[in-house]
Amino acid sequence: MNPLLDFTGLPRFDRIAAEHVAPAIDTLLAQARTSVRAVDDDTRPATWETVVAPTETAFDHLDRAWSAVKHLNAVVNTPAIRDAYNAALPRVTAFYTDIAQDPRWYARFRALRDGTGYDALDAAQRKVVDNALRDFRLGGAELSDADKAKFKAVQEELATLSARFDDHVLDSENAWAHWVSNETDLAGVPADVVKAARLAAEAEGRAGWKLTLRYPCYMPVMQYADNRELRALLHRASATLASDLGASPDWDNTPVIARILKLRLEEARLLGYANFAELSLVPKMAQTPAEVLAFIRDLARRARPFAERDYQELVAFARDELGIAEPAAWDLPYAAEKLKARRFAFSEQEVKQYFPEDRVLAGLFHVVEAIYGVRVTPGSAAVWHPTVRFFRLHDADGTLVGEFYLDLYAREGKQSGAWMDDAINRRYAHDRLQHPVAFLTCNFSSPLEGRPAYFTHREVETLFHEFGHGLHQLLTRIDVAGVSGLQGVEWDAVELPSQFMENYCWEWDVVSHMTAHADTGAALPRELFDRMLAARNFGSGMAMVRQLEFALFDMLVHSEYVPDGQSRYASPQAVLDEVRREVAVVPKPPYDRFMHAFGHVFAGGYAAGYYSYKWAEVLSADAFGLFGERGILSPEIGARFRDEVLARGGSRPALESFVAFRGRPPQIAALLRHNGMVAS
Ligand SMILES: [Zn+2]
Repeated sequence: MNPLLDFTGLPRFDRIAAEHVAPAIDTLLAQARTSVRAVDDDTRPATWETVVAPTETAFDHLDRAWSAVKHLNAVVNTPAIRDAYNAALPRVTAFYTDIAQDPRWYARFRALRDGTGYDALDAAQRKVVDNALRDFRLGGAELSDADKAKFKAVQEELATLSARFDDHVLDSENAWAHWVSNETDLAGVPADVVKAARLAAEAEGRAGWKLTLRYPCYMPVMQYADNRELRALLHRASATLASDLGASPDWDNTPVIARILKLRLEEARLLGYANFAELSLVPKMAQTPAEVLAFIRDLARRARPFAERDYQELVAFARDELGIAEPAAWDLPYAAEKLKARRFAFSEQEVKQYFPEDRVLAGLFHVVEAIYGVRVTPGSAAVWHPTVRFFRLHDADGTLVGEFYLDLYAREGKQSGAWMDDAINRRYAHDRLQHPVAFLTCNFSSPLEGRPAYFTHREVETLFHEFGHGLHQLLTRIDVAGVSGLQGVEWDAVELPSQFMENYCWEWDVVSHMTAHADTGAALPRELFDRMLAARNFGSGMAMVRQLEFALFDMLVHSEYVPDGQSRYASPQAVLDEVRREVAVVPKPPYDRFMHAFGHVFAGGYAAGYYSYKWAEVLSADAFGLFGERGILSPEIGARFRDEVLARGGSRPALESFVAFRGRPPQIAALLRHNGMVAS
């Protein structure tokens, strides 16, 4: 029996191997296709039972198996798993493209929407049908046969171009190295980073130190290297990656960006939209590009004075204290670190000694137990690595709510970053409730020689953030898979529950209970916590306008820029240059080609959607504001947040859920306070 086809319980991570992937996915794709064909052929009146229900189990099984394969590919990426995943990926993608354009299946959903059966559905079921009709339309189901073919070709080329964009960035990053032969050139760089550079050189049989543009090397060099020329060198290399000024014309993303923008516009026009931004916003909370542009520009106007103050402060500090008469882009992270250490007198390393893993987890679980009335208990399950932990979530009356895996430590073969993914979605099927299961993945440092793992405060925040996504998946009360948990939630609202949870890492009543010093066992001193709080919004003005620069560029290049010289912008770079004149406070060197490595927008899912981070931060800051007024651990407000936001999944618009919780629409003032941007 193929373990990927065992759906009696949790995924069989003790038995799943690479050779199971192809046969399982082929079987499940065939079953899903057969279930769609059965609906197409059905001549009975269109109802939930004749249109949606017959495909639910086949699609759920495909989701669950593919989710397990995707997860293994991300966290135990062996060559065998990677090959199996890459071989199955095109088949899975083609399946979803084909069914989106299946005219008979589309007709069945339209008949369901227009018939008497629709009114008999509950709100969640109606939302599933509405979303399906929207996705048929956005998948090209309404186009003429000629346009359908054109649309498919555009989609295919866009997928190839996105992959190529990423490859160019990765290849040019991999190809770049700077060899240091004299250790004094690395003065100021933290010892562990110097050691890693030494080992990297040794691994290639060379003397000296090898520096790269990868984050764990690049960032500390920019922040701590006293050698100004070294910082300038790395800055230029990083800012010209995959561009016309980069190492090789083979990796220049200029033509890739031009072609992507042209095809996105073509895709939007085929579907009847004026530009790609309009198309991108259809399934989102924001309604029009104008609304998003006004949001970004309003925020930029408010943030600018704070960003200018931050910048002037840095320039003065660099001049007076560091002897840098005219600080350039490559001096700013360095000056910022020096100023921060001087003003707040603590280091990340000092704080880290107070946050052992088990204390942090107990503190996190205490918060969710207090506000949502649930219980978290350790459980056991088959896992993909011996360090993975597994937990169950129960309601106060003992009912099982959901389960989650916790995979905390960085290791070889595991993708970097932190994320939450669904393993199993909640749904009601065959007279049985299928409870939700989540994967929570981080990349923290692991326990060393019998000592537990200790986390930086930033890592604690990351854990709370991902757990917030996890609660969205687990606390849902929706019984239909298509809109339970995070399914069907608008992209620009998904970061509400996660950013909401981060706030608890800045509350003394929560933090004080989850600390114990590595050597003395002492709790975090209040006085040190106060310095952390004081430093919380250090440089937040500059950080905010930088995010807004990216968001504004993304929105304008997908709405007001028209390829082939029909707009007032000569090129995408001209859009970026103008955006910088409008919102940026830090002058950029003329060689800066940030756009050429902006993978979020040209290779990821954030095209005409980068604003989502700030958009959702308005919601999360404003939601947490109510807890601030009524008690941060208030079970009453917690129950309301659970009932109106977390439990609802995608069964109704996120704005409706927010208003039901807060009693009014979101207000931007909370976001400004959250970032320390209030006039004093
Ligand atoms: Zn997130």
